[in-house]
Amino acid sequence: MTESPEEGRIGAVPTEYGGTTFRSRLEVDWAQTLDGARIKWRYEPETITLPSGKVYIPDFWLPEIGVWLEVKGPNVPRIEKAAELARMRTCCCERECTCRWPVGELVIAGRQSFPSDRQEPGRRPPAGYVAWDTPVGPSAYYMTCPSCDRAQWITTKRPWRCRACRAVVEGRTVLYRSADRPLRFVEGLPTGWKPPHMSATRDVEEDQEYAPGGSDNWG
Ligand SMILES: [Zn+2]
Ligand SMILES: [Zn+2]
Repeated sequence: MTESPEEGRIGAVPTEYGGTTFRSRLEVDWAQTLDGARIKWRYEPETITLPSGKVYIPDFWLPEIGVWLEVKGPNVPRIEKAAELARMRTCCCERECTCRWPVGELVIAGRQSFPSDRQEPGRRPPAGYVAWDTPVGPSAYYMTCPSCDRAQWITTKRPWRCRACRAVVEGRTVLYRSADRPLRFVEGLPTGWKPPHMSATRDVEEDQEYAPGGSDNWG
């Protein structure tokens, strides 16, 4: 989210990663973390006018799972706009949910990472685990869909379905709280580093998907 300097962005340095220029190193860390989990992201793709009239640019949109991610460093605790977006985009279906994503779009806040409890080769000491919460509403759990294998966050609102393929996941997969530390936070890796899980095949698929006329057209 775009903040004025007095809101705590002092020291943020524009940084490039994967062809995108980010406002801060923390946002790059998040982009790398999402890549490591094979979660597709777009950085600041949309300017949203909230019901209050405030203008809001969320940090990340995760298009395969219908999730907004607002990255919050330790000095930026305020999250009112993310909460307002969450209320605005959550499911209002009266019976069966017919939203593009089960129970509507989800907003999560990325918090300062949990530190690792040990030194690891190739990682700086603070490299640890992702910490998140939701700015409003039910908690979000991290899981990997047993049907399509996509990592994602889902809420406790039922039915529990994969946000990408809509398969019912209840009873078929483990849901992790933030405190369970299921996801590594990728911090400060050198330029040119590639996520270990990214194969050549995946790169080709992504190129096709982002080509004009591709399948990524739900806006
Ligand atoms: Zn719905
Ligand atoms: Zn799935």
